[in-house]
Amino acid sequence: MKDIYSAPFALGMINAERRMDSKGWCERNSGNISCLVAEEEAREYIDTSKIIRTIPIGFDASPLAERLLIVTASGSYFSNHSFDDLGIIRISADGKTAEVIWGFEGGKRFTSELPAHLMSHIERLKVDPENRVITHCHPTNLMAMSFLHELDEKAFTRTLWGTCTEGIMVFPDGVGILPWMVCGTEDIGRATAEKMKQYRIVVWAMHGIYAAGRTLNEAVGLIDTVEKAAQIYMLTSSLPHKNCISDENLISLADHIGVSYRKDFLG
Ligand SMILES: [Zn+2]
Repeated sequence: MKDIYSAPFALGMINAERRMDSKGWCERNSGNISCLVAEEEAREYIDTSKIIRTIPIGFDASPLAERLLIVTASGSYFSNHSFDDLGIIRISADGKTAEVIWGFEGGKRFTSELPAHLMSHIERLKVDPENRVITHCHPTNLMAMSFLHELDEKAFTRTLWGTCTEGIMVFPDGVGILPWMVCGTEDIGRATAEKMKQYRIVVWAMHGIYAAGRTLNEAVGLIDTVEKAAQIYMLTSSLPHKNCISDENLISLADHIGVSYRKDFLG
């Protein structure tokens, strides 16, 4: 059996943590990631038939029954870049428990945001069967923007598209927005998953962001682009503007690269 510390899915998690931490998006223990792993791939590194212990999930995750996920631990600091803060779980056949098959040493458990992650995975997989990643963190400028900007999805998306030329190319589906809610609850999990039916980015106003992607690279890159657009907004919103990216500019760019974007978010 190969060394799990060389497994692309484990190294990918550490690399994503490092990138998110280096951006200042994950103060203390605020970031969390979950990534679906193919059982055949995991079997090259661990005995997937051995269940170390089980942890109740707290809701019915049966659409993910028998699926494996590598998940960050509750309370883990991304700044530590530590394999000790990772675990691999399998969702039980009845969808009610997480079977720990690797990691979470010393009685650790998965992130308290797991309900929001699993519910989001369930919804994203219906839209994109290749989606594998859900992640949450606290991008500084996006959080700041959510204090200043109206929390209307069309207006918020249009502002982000208008401050970063790449925006409409990278998140043509726009951004979903939730009002401030208590985090770590089933309610915010369900609300996030509902938004994930339409969006790969869900802004938790005055808190942070949820992002989905087919790969860790894609999910982190998505946040990076949204955060850059929010940064430009924060740098320029209080100053007189002499130039702007117009609707016509965005339409011609989207047409040029052939991207299908939310046309109702322009005009
Ligand atoms: Zn948070």
